[in-house]
Amino acid sequence: MSLSNSKITKPASVWPLFWRFTKPHSLLLLLIFAMIAIREGSVVLERWFISILAENTTSFIGGALTEATFLSAVYYIGFAFAVAVAIAAIARFIQNRLITEIEMRMLVNFKQYFFSHIVRLDHRFHSGHKSGTLISRLGRGASALERIMDNIVFNFAPLVFQMVVSIAVLLTIGTWFAIVIVITVIIFIGYGWLLTLHQQQLRKNTNDREDEEKASVADTFTNIETIKYFGKEDRVLKSFSDKTHATRLAQAKEWSLYGYIDAGHLFIVGLGLAALILLSIRGVLDGTVGVAGLTFVYTAYLGLAGPMGGFIRGIRDLARAQTDLESLQQYLVESNTIIDDPKAKPINVNRGSIVFNKVEFSYGHRKVFEQFTLHIKPGEKVALVGSSGAGKSTIVKLLFRFYDPESGSISVDGRDIRSAPQEQYRSQLAIVPQEGILFDNTIYENVRFGNIGASHAAVLQAIRYAQLDLVIARLPKGLETVVGERGVKLSGGERQRVAVARAILANTKILVLDEATSSLDSETEAAIQIALKSLLQKRTALIVAHRLSTIMRCDRIIVLENGRIIEQGTHKELLKAGGRYTKLWKLQKGGYIAG
Ligand code: ATP
Repeated sequence: MSLSNSKITKPASVWPLFWRFTKPHSLLLLLIFAMIAIREGSVVLERWFISILAENTTSFIGGALTEATFLSAVYYIGFAFAVAVAIAAIARFIQNRLITEIEMRMLVNFKQYFFSHIVRLDHRFHSGHKSGTLISRLGRGASALERIMDNIVFNFAPLVFQMVVSIAVLLTIGTWFAIVIVITVIIFIGYGWLLTLHQQQLRKNTNDREDEEKASVADTFTNIETIKYFGKEDRVLKSFSDKTHATRLAQAKEWSLYGYIDAGHLFIVGLGLAALILLSIRGVLDGTVGVAGLTFVYTAYLGLAGPMGGFIRGIRDLARAQTDLESLQQYLVESNTIIDDPKAKPINVNRGSIVFNKVEFSYGHRKVFEQFTLHIKPGEKVALVGSSGAGKSTIVKLLFRFYDPESGSISVDGRDIRSAPQEQYRSQLAIVPQEGILFDNTIYENVRFGNIGASHAAVLQAIRYAQLDLVIARLPKGLETVVGERGVKLSGGERQRVAVARAILANTKILVLDEATSSLDSETEAAIQIALKSLLQKRTALIVAHRLSTIMRCDRIIVLENGRIIEQGTHKELLKAGGRYTKLWKLQKGGYIAG
């Protein structure tokens, strides 16, 4: 049932996505373009002033100008040049400030948008995607958005504006000069574009290898304890080394294209220059081009070489950024399979009855439930026992609506759970999971997560009921102790008490207890039993049970086998019946039912 990346269809172009984040700031973008136009216009003007200076100098040397006239021309030109440089500098300064502003705003919106989309994707999506890959793609996507904007502003727009102004001036000097320059620029960009398209495919390959590398890093750190217990550092390092080599090879292929791109471009610029030289010789011979014209043609052409190079670097980086953004954009086509009914209305679970009615459910081809029916009365404590793979956790997942049944229904307090908004519905349930994984935050905040709006006194009370105050008293920083990633700084029993306190604070009518299978020492076990006693009071409880102490106190024990209820009753009744439960009971070890 897991979703692999290969299942994801190719996403649409990234431009609509880029525009979605740019559109709210279009006025800022317009201002940026205005600054670029002013700056590039000033640059072309500077060249024009130089060509006039060259003309005057030639005339002065040739004796056509007096020294006084020449000097006054030089002063005027010098002054105009300085003004153009100052305008270009100011425009550049404003442009940079505006770009920083627009990019900051876009990035904040972008990160929030994708993070919230991915967080809201359902359990099915998250159980099929590695967190390392998600983190890697989120980071690369945000940086890609920034790079696309940088390229537009620093690499594409300058060439376009400079071309427009230069061509306008060139047309007054000679149409052919303008035509040659335009053709050279088109060939230059076309060639770069073609090779870059090819490079984009290779980039995708590099990204996939990088994702695997990062996922492996995340997986290693998640399992670092297991690796150390088994002394398998060498194995992990060897596997990581293979992955880094694969990334390097993919990168080498991608980067090898740069050589062809650069050499080809040098050749194209050279050809353009040769054509301009031939044209100028003809122009000088037939007297249509003067010194100012010639000077402008060459300074404009060579001046365009910089922005042309920038344009190509921009295309190259744009292609990479597009691929990076695509890999994140793919998640947008992922939609939740658990969808809220548009007419869904919030549910207030205040009695706590649960009904599974003729539920059919499979994970892909693995059929787990067929016509499964179970009625749980308000306040009833029901234990689920049965061998591994019987479907106990799946019942819990169905109750939390991580999956919808293929047919049949699940109702809580008489309402089909599909008729309520899923997040609101889940907030009406609480769970003490098998593995108490905690946020890397203080104990207090971890408990408060059960009900963010709870008062300080309520949090403290939940902590007391869960017998967590005994743990806290031993810690130098008490409630403010930071528990470490996943809660590693606490013991299994302590983590479980945090989870119990959180569930007490949530104060819901329905509670699910996925009991830890690992042995707890008897003192901790006793403390947890006291904690659970307060937790279970006046609530409906569904307990995936392993502890005899819990099972014996339950109103009803359901024995599951291959998704079917094969026995049910109280502990005494089932022992009397002498069926499967009695066998499990006889296999009990150290207070735990052997599954
Ligand atoms: P245990 O006591 O070992 O936790 P369980 O009774 O809770 O077992 P479930 O986790 O509900 O069993 O699993 C029921 C069946 O569904 C098992 O055969 C399991 O392999 C399969 N299964 C569970 N989760 C998935 C999944 N995400 N994708 C595919 N099959 C799954």
